[in-house]
Amino acid sequence: MTLSKTIGIIGGGQLGQMMAIAAIYRGHKVITLDPVADCPASKVSEVIVADYADVEALRILAERCDVLTYEFENVDAESLDAVADKALLPQGTDLLRISQNRIAEKAFLSQVGVAVAPYRVVTSSKDLTDYDFVTTRVLKTATGGYDGHGQVVIRDEESLAQAKVLADQTDCVLEDFVPFDMEISVLVSGNSRELTVFPVQENIHRNNILSKTIVPARISENLAEKAVQMARKIATDLQLFGTLCIEMFVTGSTILVNEIAPRPHNSGHYSIEACNFSQFDTHILGILGETLPDIQLYAPALMLNILGQDMEAAREFMTQHPQAHLHFYGKAEAKYNRKMGHVTMLTEKVEEVNL
Ligand code: AMP
Repeated sequence: MTLSKTIGIIGGGQLGQMMAIAAIYRGHKVITLDPVADCPASKVSEVIVADYADVEALRILAERCDVLTYEFENVDAESLDAVADKALLPQGTDLLRISQNRIAEKAFLSQVGVAVAPYRVVTSSKDLTDYDFVTTRVLKTATGGYDGHGQVVIRDEESLAQAKVLADQTDCVLEDFVPFDMEISVLVSGNSRELTVFPVQENIHRNNILSKTIVPARISENLAEKAVQMARKIATDLQLFGTLCIEMFVTGSTILVNEIAPRPHNSGHYSIEACNFSQFDTHILGILGETLPDIQLYAPALMLNILGQDMEAAREFMTQHPQAHLHFYGKAEAKYNRKMGHVTMLTEKVEEVNL
């Protein structure tokens, strides 16, 4: 009997790469599917070069693997369903459908009984006629948005006009703008029988892109416990396999869920060095249905993202902070705002340390 499995990862970016590394440490073989031959996961796995929705390529991947997983939620669910008889997909496609469509996601979260910002569905600009400016709201496309793309904060006539253009292009949700004190996220991993939860993470964004994660989040124990309970509730309802990230807004003593991502998340990278098991380790254990460890945080930690424009600053940072753990994902071109790598530091001086 072999304990070694072949794991197929759809998406070969940095998340796929770090998932693959966690799998390889456990003796598994990894094959990745990505449209780019030179993708980050290509450094550590064989790559099938194809589009994510290419059913024939997905079939080949499924035939060669015992278990399939994905590194991001915008994988075509129908294409995956079409190959479901070839390999196990423990996470299923329902979770994909929920997390890739904000309308389905909000309906799901409301049904689970966790609070979300007040919202309504908008299917065309007609739904925005007689718009009142009583509350600031944000219009978000139901599908395809990320890092603030596909969003308009409606504050005045000009932004309302932009929102109307967006609403005529695609289905959207219109939600109240939340004057949050803090953005947090909770990572939870499951094997369908039990869950393991990571400490609450505090996330600081710059231009809608995650810039810094601080762990543990600087909130009260009560609030942290509330966030963890919300995460558990969602994961339990999903009978979760693998790692799920739940992003939340904290305003006073209120916590609202913003969105969920059915995979390891940028805000959990610190767990590689700061925890006894990383979010990638527990993802691999979870999708294989193996027993999950309790998570311990060794020390307060912070993670800084390195974007394309930060490459020089990162090199300088490493000479100043040799105890920082540097990760580069092996991307050839350092484009503006492209996530090139990150650093993790085990430190309590979370405010002082910046790139
Ligand atoms: P999202 O794509 O929903 O994760 O949004 C990207 C970022 O936009 C979030 O991390 C927040 O910083 C901000 N944002 C999204 N929705 C809201 C909201 N309803 N109120 C305030 N800020 C928001």
